[in-house]
Amino acid sequence: MHKVSSKIKRGQEAEKMSQNYFEVVVVGAGASGIGAALTAAQQNLSVLLLEKGNRPGGAGMFGAQGLFAVESQQQQQSGESYTVKDAFQELVDYSHHRVNESLVKKIVAESAATITWLNENGLATELVSNTQEAHQKHPRVYHQYIDKFNGFARLLARFEALGGVLLTETTGKEIVTDDAGRVTGIQILEKQGRSRLINCRAVIAADGGFVGNQKMVASTLETDSREFYSMGERKATGDGLRMLAQIGADTRKKGAFENHAASVVSQVDPKWRKPSIFTLTNLPLLWVDRAGKRFTNEGVVYDFALWGNTTFAAGGCYYYLFDEAFVAKITKTALPLTDSFERTFKNLAHKEVTHQIGPFAQLKEDLQEAQANQVAFVGETLSVLADKLGMSATELVKTVTEYNRFVKNKADLQFYKDPAYLQFDLQKGPFYAVKATTTSLGTIGGVRVNEKMEVLGMDGLALKGAYATGNNASGMYDTSYPTLEGVSCAFAWNSGRIAGQAVGNYLQNSGH
Ligand SMILES: Cc1cc2nc3c(=O)[nH]c(=O)nc-3n(C[C@H](O)[C@H](O)[C@H](O)COP(=O)(O)OP(=O)(O)OC[C@H]3O[C@@H](n4cnc5c(N)ncnc54)[C@H](O)[C@@H]3O)c2cc1C
Repeated sequence: MHKVSSKIKRGQEAEKMSQNYFEVVVVGAGASGIGAALTAAQQNLSVLLLEKGNRPGGAGMFGAQGLFAVESQQQQQSGESYTVKDAFQELVDYSHHRVNESLVKKIVAESAATITWLNENGLATELVSNTQEAHQKHPRVYHQYIDKFNGFARLLARFEALGGVLLTETTGKEIVTDDAGRVTGIQILEKQGRSRLINCRAVIAADGGFVGNQKMVASTLETDSREFYSMGERKATGDGLRMLAQIGADTRKKGAFENHAASVVSQVDPKWRKPSIFTLTNLPLLWVDRAGKRFTNEGVVYDFALWGNTTFAAGGCYYYLFDEAFVAKITKTALPLTDSFERTFKNLAHKEVTHQIGPFAQLKEDLQEAQANQVAFVGETLSVLADKLGMSATELVKTVTEYNRFVKNKADLQFYKDPAYLQFDLQKGPFYAVKATTTSLGTIGGVRVNEKMEVLGMDGLALKGAYATGNNASGMYDTSYPTLEGVSCAFAWNSGRIAGQAVGNYLQNSGH
């Protein structure tokens, strides 16, 4: 009996795999692709979900911990007074209205329903305190995933239970249109290296932007491409943008990055990590750019997007500096400072934030390792250190002398850093510098869309049957992603759901 039923199941699987017609094909099984595919399947559409990698999930699963929403049930129950109007206003003000305001409104207005929908379909969230120090006074908006990996699996199981087909290790290659410009199919590349045409009536490009494509990244960066560290989805290589451009999409707005904090990246072994060095990077110590000058109020470390942006604007990297007295102190004693990432991890573990760092008994050894990895530099004098960093000794000495005066007087006359962070002057060598590099979670945008996630052509009109979602779609952001916590994951899920709904209406009304 068991043998017969598993044989039938295998037969059904094989039939699904070789099916050559679906109403909708979704390219990419990250948050936006899963959102789109499940929503479309829930409208009784036949849906094929393609995933280039050997497992679904994308950045929203391997990276993100949660998403933004406003007026969710959790927020209402806990008395948050923040409204759709407040969030909309905050977002359009942040981007100086250089966005698609109808789209921003739709995403924000849909966000609470998306939290309910995720919960109903197996991915629960909990409202937690905002994860960044700078946002503690902002109303709570961050809905943290509960049981993330199983939650994603449950969403996909729902999709398959509704007849949806997920093909992994299968890549969307080329969208096919008819003479009237309507989408009629997509050429796919299967894992065996076989190319196949799938006939369909609509394609949703949800393949995550192009952060995995070094050439495209380099050509759209406004900073030194050697100083760019991506934590984003490597398989997001701009396939959707390319395919959509081929059928006439407006893909001009490509230069927005999700800059997020800064990282110490070994030049010798990219996997090298040291908790002590990681923590020191997350503090408002003295930072200098490649010319040896301060460039920001280092207190920006408590807002990840702004910290990422200031690093990006400084040319992609900076050095944080300290002296031997600092090393001696933190080797023995915990310091009353806040590690900007601590709350993020404490939220996940439901633990209290300590507002203490160290002691790091092994810091000397860790710094030696960091030197071997070409990320830390040491000089007996500031001049020697400047020489090693390739910067002007005069400039570095001037910066440190001025900074020491700010520390002494507890007043940063240059960038107005909070006096509470003016604790450590640099008086006596050896002096240390650690290099921090601009870090991105992904590219955000490229394809122009309307508020239904329909792809627009160069004339501003919707292409027939083509949709773009998540990191592919422009209109939510201007030059960078806003500081509202969880907005990019929220954009992925919400834009996916919106596209999934819109495609149903399109198919009903398109008549082909
Ligand atoms: C480390 C990290 C932490 C993050 N934390 C947060 C957070 O806490 N909150 C937040 O809001 N945002 C966060 N983000 C950002 C957020 O996760 C992403 O913006 C969002 O998940 C993007 O979703 P997406 O569906 O557009 O793309 P992706 O998640 O990148 O999914 C795209 C999928 O498409 C597949 N694909 C690519 N090309 C093809 C092709 N040709 N054919 C088939 N499949 C293809 C890829 O393999 C991938 O699975 C984080 C990102 C990272 C990297």
